[in-house]
Amino acid sequence: MTQGSQDKPKFTVLSIFAHPDDEAFGSGGTLAELVRKGHKMTTVCATNGDVGEISDPALATPENLWQVRQEEMRRAMTVTGIKDVRFLGYRDSGMDGTPDNDNTSSLFQADPAKVEAEISALLDELQPDIVFTHDPTGGYGHPDHVTVYRRTLAVINAMTGKRPHLYYVCFPRENFKRLWHEMTDAGITPPFAKEQLDDIGSPDDFITTVRDVSDFVEIKKESLSHHQTQIDPNGPFGKLAPLVLTAWMSTEYFYLDQPNNGETHEDILSDLV
Ligand SMILES: [Zn+2]
Repeated sequence: MTQGSQDKPKFTVLSIFAHPDDEAFGSGGTLAELVRKGHKMTTVCATNGDVGEISDPALATPENLWQVRQEEMRRAMTVTGIKDVRFLGYRDSGMDGTPDNDNTSSLFQADPAKVEAEISALLDELQPDIVFTHDPTGGYGHPDHVTVYRRTLAVINAMTGKRPHLYYVCFPRENFKRLWHEMTDAGITPPFAKEQLDDIGSPDDFITTVRDVSDFVEIKKESLSHHQTQIDPNGPFGKLAPLVLTAWMSTEYFYLDQPNNGETHEDILSDLV
């Protein structure tokens, strides 16, 4: 942490997510705000999102999707204002239970010690004050989200020196329920079944930090729009009324994990300067 103008602390912030676009919906506004307040930012994708959707065959093929998604990520981060964008290069492991889970190049199959060594090297190099990553549920149980959470937590738990504030980006279960009802009422088929609603998302009492990012929501939306292969205009989110979608995107939710060494971390994200 360095002292900026007016002695306001300037943080070094490392985001570690599984796929290009994972940063967007849950933390895009906060990342844009941190950039504009002069904090030092790095974003890391563990995989290239190789097996994600292709919204329009003109944009990519299954063979070059990994390159297209890297480019989309770089363009998205240019809008957000983050220049330091890195990829660990693992293959996307696909949704839970799909054959891509078994691919030997996938993050899911990677040697945990190797992934942890890579995350550890990032922490040594950057010395972040804040780390953002997936929450323990992975939002909706994606194996790569859960793997990135587990590896990042293991590395931070093993640190002997000063530890970063570890924030999980959360998608509250209550919001999934509200969204399901809003979509159903509007005649839109939600992307998840009613039977899933008690299982997906972060438990509501898990959330420590709720952030109003409405001042940054236009940047967030523009950044997200560069993940073009992942955006289906005819999908459930594309069908939501623009003002409704903007309202959903204007609040972000985090869980501040406490260190396992007896230290107490203050919620430095709730009071950003
Ligand atoms: Zn993802």
